[in-house]
Amino acid sequence: MAKTSPIPVPTVHEVPDNPWHNAQLQFDNAAHLLNLEPGLAAVLREVKREFTVRFPVKMDDGSLRVFEGYRVQHNVTRGPAKGGIRFHPNVSLDEVKALSMWMTWKCALVNIPFGGAKGGVIVDPANLSHHELERLTRRFASEISILIGPESDIPAPDVNTNGEVMAWIMDTVSMEKGYSIPAVVTGKPLDIGGSEGRPSATGRGVTIVALAACRKLGMDPKSTRVAVQGFGNVGSVSAQLMHEAGFTICGLSDVYGAIFNPEGLDMDEVMAFQREHRTITGFPKATALSNEELLEADVDILVPAALENQITGANAGRIRARLVIEGANGPTTPEADAILESKGVTVVPDILANAGGVTVSYFEWVQDLQSLFWEEGEINKRLEKIMERAFTQMVLQSEEHHCSWRLGAYLVAVKRVADATAVRGIYP
Ligand code: GLU
Repeated sequence: MAKTSPIPVPTVHEVPDNPWHNAQLQFDNAAHLLNLEPGLAAVLREVKREFTVRFPVKMDDGSLRVFEGYRVQHNVTRGPAKGGIRFHPNVSLDEVKALSMWMTWKCALVNIPFGGAKGGVIVDPANLSHHELERLTRRFASEISILIGPESDIPAPDVNTNGEVMAWIMDTVSMEKGYSIPAVVTGKPLDIGGSEGRPSATGRGVTIVALAACRKLGMDPKSTRVAVQGFGNVGSVSAQLMHEAGFTICGLSDVYGAIFNPEGLDMDEVMAFQREHRTITGFPKATALSNEELLEADVDILVPAALENQITGANAGRIRARLVIEGANGPTTPEADAILESKGVTVVPDILANAGGVTVSYFEWVQDLQSLFWEEGEINKRLEKIMERAFTQMVLQSEEHHCSWRLGAYLVAVKRVADATAVRGIYP
């Protein structure tokens, strides 16, 4: 990472919508439909803990720089807090709060015993050397070590963080304790207790729900054209696995721009090109598009797999896909949601579409706690079962309440957290 991996900067909008307000609005809709008792709704629409840290990092030239980071736990009623850590210049407390709330609903929807958390540091890692990135990660891990732990709060990779970053966090926490604590993070390398199938899990989950949605909507993957926005861990794996599943991948984008071929892109060739050039732009057998144009391209399925607020009130009216599968967290604003719904566009919401990652994180945590490791086939089979069950429960709720799949998913998730809260009772 560091200097070789550019950061995905939003290109369509410079974060015009506050993700935290959007997340609360989505929750309010579900709370209203569920007729949640107002006191309980008031608890669930806020985060439980928000922790801001400012910490110094020694730069390679000997100077000192102060960074700001956050770890937020939205809810821990159903189990330890769970959620990734992102490094990005646009990180804000409100963004991390929104992402932590979405983690709570995501874990509840796929019914794994975790609450929701998220962390972030305001930094552009492309401007740091590898050593600076390691020192920043270790110091941030130490700063938030009063919160994280296998039984309390378990970080994982997110935007611009990866297995190596998780290894540094695991090592820092372990060194401070004096013994190895693999289960303190997930998404680790295999050598230190990572899980088979974790790097590809989010993209695999996207593919599983894409196939389920196609079955439900009567779409044949063989004649279904797809555009994927974003070429990080989620976007690139989703495109490859959807291609393997028979979909035609017509459009792709990364931070530099987009490529499009109405006849379909050969994913092996694109991957080879990307490995060589560190970007997909300039791929010869395709037309160059802007990121904005890719979102509005003539395809059947659009997979936004970059950052929040990509489909907004400004461009939702021009989306031509009939199915949007949210690989990213929060890519569609509530305003855009309403426009898409009125146009008859179906959205597989983020809390289901990208839940494959945290589901296999759960498998990794269980394996670490038991010191007993599973084969990849077993992991993928269990993942498929969990994703398909959650898909069915979401669709059932949306049919019962004549509402969108997003609201259907929220009904399942919010009810699980509300029921757990009610059965535990209020302390003291
Ligand atoms: N960052 C991923 C997400 O947004 C994975 C979280 C995890 O595995 O804990 O779902």
